Amino acid sequence: MRDIWIYSESAAVATQMIACAGKISQTGKLRVFISSEDGTHSIVRAGVDEVTVFRSADGRAESCVEALSALAQTERPLAILFESSCSGKEIAARCAAILGTGLVTDALDIRNNEGIIETDRMVYGGLAIATEALSSPSLITLAASLYTPAAALGAADASLRIQEADGGSAINIVDRLPIERASVDLTKADKIVCVGRGVGKKDDLNLIYEMAAALGAEVSCTRAINEYQWFPPESYIGISGFKVRPSLYIAIGVSGQIQHLSGIRDSKTVVAVNNSESAPIFASADYGIVGDLYDFVPCMITALRKN
Ligand SMILES: Cc1cc2nc3c(=O)[nH]c(=O)nc-3n(C[C@H](O)[C@H](O)[C@H](O)COP(=O)(O)OP(=O)(O)OC[C@H]3O[C@@H](n4cnc5c(N)ncnc54)[C@H](O)[C@@H]3O)c2cc1C
Repeated sequence: MRDIWIYSESAAVATQMIACAGKISQTGKLRVFISSEDGTHSIVRAGVDEVTVFRSADGRAESCVEALSALAQTERPLAILFESSCSGKEIAARCAAILGTGLVTDALDIRNNEGIIETDRMVYGGLAIATEALSSPSLITLAASLYTPAAALGAADASLRIQEADGGSAINIVDRLPIERASVDLTKADKIVCVGRGVGKKDDLNLIYEMAAALGAEVSCTRAINEYQWFPPESYIGISGFKVRPSLYIAIGVSGQIQHLSGIRDSKTVVAVNNSESAPIFASADYGIVGDLYDFVPCMITALRKN
């Protein structure tokens, strides 16, 4: 079969992955599997052929593994796409083990080369891109946020099926507690001010927040700053953090190591402020200011307030 399947835990992510799947779907069907019924109306009108909602009594996404793998064993899709989230990767890995196939995680790009799925992904901390040709079914996780959601086509709705999916598990859930997360979704931010280790102490963040407020930007950080715990856990940008695509990204006291740059490569305009003219960030910046951030940021705030 030449079908492309998508597995997602949310309708919003599914519509982004549909846009990606459209790139590799040729003659086969496009089928979405989702573990939540919320928002399925947006998927059925997004140009897919079939939507299956996996319903499980325990609400665990992993319960879908057996159901999805069993279907894939009989129907042999060309590829199954998962989101590059923690649970997306776990489900993809379990399915790959059951199906006896490989898994590419964190794909940056994906192509259909005459029926063979090819992926690009970063290796060596972002220093090189590996291109891999995959056997079928090709299991791939990718950052859905890299894709603009597929719009409702106004075409005929896809067929919608509900399937019970209780895989049975040795794990017994006794409680669920929310994880503390950054209050904003950085992957959707239009403007981002990123704090690097050039910002000497936590109190100085007030200055950064002031500038960000004047710009209407969100504030984020590098992994080095993340380790200081000045921000909610895991709110940093980079290869192991968020991949962002704002129209404006301003790096304040960020050196621009490759692991950080790989998270900002889809930014439209990059501005860097650094007091070392040899900082690598300048090679990736559209505008570079060689200077002390403690001089630059107050000037910027004054200028923004004048306008
Ligand atoms: C496996 C692995 C994964 C990683 N993943 C990530 C990731 O996802 N994201 C990430 O960010 N990092 C990641 N890192 C860490 C990365 O390699 C860098 O160490 C980190 O990005 C550096 O952060 P920084 O730029 O804040 O700090 P630094 O490298 O210390 O840079 C601080 C910069 O501030 C400048 N500066 C100092 N004072 C001032 C001043 N007063 N005014 C202006 N400029 C000033 C300095 O010139 C310097 O360039 C990873 C590392 C590894 C090994």
